[in-house]
Amino acid sequence: MKASFDAGAASARTGQGTARIPVDLGDVRRRARSAFLGLALGDALGAPVEFMTADEIRAQHGLLREMVGGGWLRLRPGQVTDDTEMSLCLARAIDAASGFDLRTVADRFAEWLRGGPVDVGNTVRRGIRRYLHEGTLAGPPADGDAGNGAAMRMVPVALATLGNGPLLAQLAVQQARVTHHHLLSDTASVHVGLLLHLAVTGHSLSRLRAASDALAAVHPGFRIEGYRGLATGYVVDTLRTVLHHFHRTRGFEECLVAVVNQGGDADTTGAIAGALAGAYYGPEELPARWLRKLAPALRAEIERLADRMVDLSPLARGEGVL
Ligand code: MN
Ligand code: MN
Repeated sequence: MKASFDAGAASARTGQGTARIPVDLGDVRRRARSAFLGLALGDALGAPVEFMTADEIRAQHGLLREMVGGGWLRLRPGQVTDDTEMSLCLARAIDAASGFDLRTVADRFAEWLRGGPVDVGNTVRRGIRRYLHEGTLAGPPADGDAGNGAAMRMVPVALATLGNGPLLAQLAVQQARVTHHHLLSDTASVHVGLLLHLAVTGHSLSRLRAASDALAAVHPGFRIEGYRGLATGYVVDTLRTVLHHFHRTRGFEECLVAVVNQGGDADTTGAIAGALAGAYYGPEELPARWLRKLAPALRAEIERLADRMVDLSPLARGEGVL
């Protein structure tokens, strides 16, 4: 199925009209780039301590706040992993199709898997293999699909659907179910997208907090209060880790350092926190010493694709849904 990001379908369903939303598009573009770069920075910062406990990190690194490389994947300092690479697959697919075409997305995932990526989650591998063998764009619902592998790659869909929340929800779930079919994965993917919409369009911390509190009212597992340090790849633990630290810190670097030093699925919590904090705090807060560690070609492609996602969005085209 193909969606060109126009608001027609959603507005016909909801009865809402389309209208120009008064936002500063230049500011949106800056925050969009910062979100995508923040994702890569959090991935690269956290990957060397993925699957370590907070105590193990403290013993080996003290407080980890530099791009050290190494870890179980033996990474170069600044090297990104599947979290960033799958996000790039989505962004390249949206770029190539000038819109969201799910088969193009699945083909990019398949091409990436065949290329022998540095790491790949079990649920992701199984979903892509199913697509390759059966051609199906969604797996059946499965209890084991509540990992964070779909929520971690939400940046491109969030940017390309700016200005249209119903479209975001629809496409978030479609991209998620290529590999993960579980209510909690769907819910977390949509919520990460919603927070990115709010942050990229300049909303306040209290507005973001209210959105997450509203989610917790429906799904109490996601509540921010009472966090006890579980940072696993279970998408509920992942999102709680991100939101707990995002709301108790006051800066991009402080937030990411707090998140990755929690350990567990540290590259993925780092990636999601980096996207959210990058969008919220903007590019001035991205540490230059971290950015220098990203491969120049990667950084350039991320910036180009972030711009392209925004250009394709209903918001940039003056077709946002009020
Ligand atoms: Mn990873
Ligand atoms: Mn991970």
